[in-house]
Amino acid sequence: MIIAFLGSPGSGKGTQAKQLAERFGFHHFDTGSMLRVEAASGSALGERIAHYINAGNLVPLEVIKELVLKFLTATRAERIMFDGFPRNLDQARVFDEGLIEAGRTLTCAVYLQLDPETIEDRILNRRTCEVCGRIYNMKSNPPRQDEVCDRDGGKLTLRADDNPEKLKRRIEVYMSETVPVLEHYRGQDKLCLIDADQPIDEVTSSIVGLLGVTDGAA
Ligand code: AMP
Repeated sequence: MIIAFLGSPGSGKGTQAKQLAERFGFHHFDTGSMLRVEAASGSALGERIAHYINAGNLVPLEVIKELVLKFLTATRAERIMFDGFPRNLDQARVFDEGLIEAGRTLTCAVYLQLDPETIEDRILNRRTCEVCGRIYNMKSNPPRQDEVCDRDGGKLTLRADDNPEKLKRRIEVYMSETVPVLEHYRGQDKLCLIDADQPIDEVTSSIVGLLGVTDGAA
C-alpha cells in the first residue's frame, strides 16, 4: 500500500502521516524533515537546500528526484507513506515513472482539505519536539507542560519557516504549484478527500476508515 499525503501548510499532513506510520507500520517518507536534516548538516548541498526552505520556496526538482528515486529503487517496505511529496506536477510525473520502474502502484493520494483562513492560525501555533519530531498545537493540542514534549521531555520549538512572512510565500507556492497536483490525481481517479478541519483524532479515524488499514503487513 502506497499513500501520498497532500495538503496545504498546516493541514496536519505531517501529524497524521507520522502517527499513522507508527501505528500501522508504514515507512514514513517525509521530504520536509529529510531536507531539514540535510540543511542542518552544513554540507554544500545542505546550504543550497536551506536557501530554498528559508525563502519558503520548493527545493529544485533534481534534489527531490534523487531522494525519491533512490528510495523507490532500494525499499522493500510494503507500506509507504509519502508526506509532502509530490509538491508540483513535475514531481508527480517523476513519481508516476519511478513507481512504474519499481513495479509499484500508488494506492491513493489523500488530500487533507483545510479552509485557507485556518492555515495561518494553525501554523503560527505549531511547535515541534526537537528530539522526536512530535507536533503540537499550542491552542488545540498543547503539551501538558509548556514548551516540553509529553513523550520524551524534548524542547518544543517553532520551525524557522513558520513565521508570517515565510508562511505567506509557502501558501502562494502551495496554491500555484501543489494545487494542480490534486487534478493530476483526480484524473487518475486516485484523489481521496479528507476534511482536515476536525479534531486530530477524528481526522485520523476518517483516514483509517478510508484506507481500511489494520495492524500488520499490507
Ligand atoms: P514541509 O515540512 O513539508 O512543510 O516542508 C518544508 C519545506 O521543505 C518546504 O517549504 C520546501 O522548501 C521544502 N520541501 C519539502 N518537501 C518538498 C518537496 N517535495 N519538493 C520541494 N521542496 C520541498
